[in-house]
Amino acid sequence: MRIQEIIQEFVPCEVCGNSDINNFYFHVFAHRGSEPYVKCCECEEEFYSMSAKEVLLRIERERKEKRSSGQVISKYF
Ligand SMILES: [Zn+2]
Repeated sequence: MRIQEIIQEFVPCEVCGNSDINNFYFHVFAHRGSEPYVKCCECEEEFYSMSAKEVLLRIERERKEKRSSGQVISKYF
């Protein structure tokens, strides 16, 4: 899954109607247990991304199975 596909889910912005995909960005709060959010840069609203969370959970599972800690999130997005 690509970051653009994750963002696409929240375009246009529910709050301000921003429909420019380049005006959104994706980020993960590691300190909250890897919670993924898409943020609208127009109104600064943040939307929780379930589909990105599923990807993160899959990464975690694979990590446990393979016991490899060297994988990076960017490989999956
Ligand atoms: Zn907005």
